[in-house]
Amino acid sequence: MDKSPFTLDADAAASKSASDHTRASNHAVTDALPFSNRRSFEDAARGFIATIDPLTIHREGSRRPVYDLSGLDFLAGSPPDTVNPSLWRQAQLNAQHNGLFEVTDGIYQVRSFDIANMTLIAGNNGWIVVDPLTSTEASSTALQLANKHLGERPVVAVLYTHSHADHFAGALGVVDPDDAAAGKVEVIAPEHFVDEALSENVLAGNVMNRRATYMYGNLLPPSPAGFVSTGLGAALSMGSTGFVPPNDLICATGETRTIDGIEFEFQMTPGTEAPAEFVFYLPQFKALCMSEITSHHLHNVYTLRGAQVRDALAWSRQINESIDLFGERLEIQFACHHWPIWGREAALEYLRSQRDLYKYIHDQTLRLANHGLNKEEIAEQIELPAELGREFFNRGYYGTVHHNVCAVYVKYLGHFDGNPVNIHKHPPVAAAGRYVEFMGGTDAILDKARASFADGDYRWVAEVVNHVVLVEPEHASARALLADALEQLGYQAESAVWRNFYLSGALELRRELPSETRFRASEGMVRGIPLANLFQAMAVRLNGPAAEGLSLHFNLCFPDIDTRYLMSIENSVLHAFPDRSTAHPTAELTLASLQFKKLMMGITDGATLLGEGELEVKGDLDALTRLTGLFDQFERRFPIVTPHPPRR
Ligand SMILES: [Zn+2]
Repeated sequence: MDKSPFTLDADAAASKSASDHTRASNHAVTDALPFSNRRSFEDAARGFIATIDPLTIHREGSRRPVYDLSGLDFLAGSPPDTVNPSLWRQAQLNAQHNGLFEVTDGIYQVRSFDIANMTLIAGNNGWIVVDPLTSTEASSTALQLANKHLGERPVVAVLYTHSHADHFAGALGVVDPDDAAAGKVEVIAPEHFVDEALSENVLAGNVMNRRATYMYGNLLPPSPAGFVSTGLGAALSMGSTGFVPPNDLICATGETRTIDGIEFEFQMTPGTEAPAEFVFYLPQFKALCMSEITSHHLHNVYTLRGAQVRDALAWSRQINESIDLFGERLEIQFACHHWPIWGREAALEYLRSQRDLYKYIHDQTLRLANHGLNKEEIAEQIELPAELGREFFNRGYYGTVHHNVCAVYVKYLGHFDGNPVNIHKHPPVAAAGRYVEFMGGTDAILDKARASFADGDYRWVAEVVNHVVLVEPEHASARALLADALEQLGYQAESAVWRNFYLSGALELRRELPSETRFRASEGMVRGIPLANLFQAMAVRLNGPAAEGLSLHFNLCFPDIDTRYLMSIENSVLHAFPDRSTAHPTAELTLASLQFKKLMMGITDGATLLGEGELEVKGDLDALTRLTGLFDQFERRFPIVTPHPPRR
């Protein structure tokens, strides 16, 4: 038995070349799709003004760049056997068309300075910035590029099209939060933006962030055997983040604004791509911004980093409504990812096709579900009709038909498929031990799995060897075989997301997990969080078993905002009641609201605040220490492909 403490030798730990099966699979894609159609390449290049070369964005005081496309030069060649040729095409479109582009006179986009686009609309006096990217460094670099080549202008307004971080977290790079708070700069967002932005990124933040590293391939080196794209954009920037709350909300379709002389007509599209989102039409430019409702691929009805399942039917309806509202008038369609489409006919054809893409997946999933098929069976079976599936802008570079079908099923029917054997299954490690024993033990499984690998049945190898790795995580050859199988699956995947997941899994099987660091909300994020959302985030971190039997009541006084809260822990549940206090508190804390947020997010501690005179405690001093000890700290890089230690 070749069991050893976990170390893979250099050969086992190295990236492998594409197998014959993978080569054949990728060649079949070349034959199946109309690669001679180069329309998207023309559109992606149209209106180019300037870029930065090499495109590397740095962060002050850090050696690791925030964003770096210089490592993707290899995309200039033809597709290697280790990349699905359809994904290769998308990767080229994303990475090789970076910089400042004119959409039309007065509308500009900085593309591929982050995963999303930053759009700049020239008003009478300054820039209206639509979607200031994911990081301060990326958005400020994008703004500088525009100012340099189009003339220096102040930012007079910022629009957040929706509640995803790649569209708002870089706001500090384009707007001073004091100017926003004072209303000097308009900051416009769809209704419920703040709640949705924060619930998505704080309450489930740690687990989403961890899964996002797999999804976006952040830990993969750029190479033909590694990272090539995110599908949705060239790459995700990893810099400083912040939160500048909006000072104007759009609540209804048909609302208009005139911002710095530019007219905007809004259409609300919530509960589709994001829980809070709008699209808008600019009559002076005959231009429709579809935000992220349309994109040059099949988007995620469910995103594998983890998020609530989206409504494919509503998605399709919203695109249809956009066609009805603006289709007769538009001449240009642009969006917050990818490149625009010019010309009414081409834009309408694209919008109709995207509309039908989501509706086809929705309707056909439910048709087959009503026949009694479960989600795995439906996902295996459904293929797009050729009219939809041969359009590159409907291909699954980000979402896939497979996982979107599962999403539609879950949206209507939940995770359970109705078969009672699936009601109360053993969790993965407990099941794995039993499987390994029933299947004749590790060596027997690995022997058979190697034969399946030779046959190219990588999906099966992954499913079976996963059981071994969960039981014997230090078994070097099991880890190596599972990694090799995931890698070939990654090489074949048309979806950048699937590729990144597979290759990230392989990477972490071949190496130890990167050293552990604790999840911390950024100071910018903490500053922006409203107190009500902070309390909810704390409630999620409260360790229920540790709080069992406790009854703690804190009067909280925040003189800076003239607000009091009663924060109670009872029944292992944390509540915070505004404008309430109790006559017999465990303790009463008086401090600035920002200091309280930092204290609760683990950025500072009680002793430090007391020492600095920032905190006043009446009552039981030790209660504060007991309180802060009740909250879990989350490990940023918890194991995904290997078992994790039990946790209470
Ligand atoms: Zn986005």
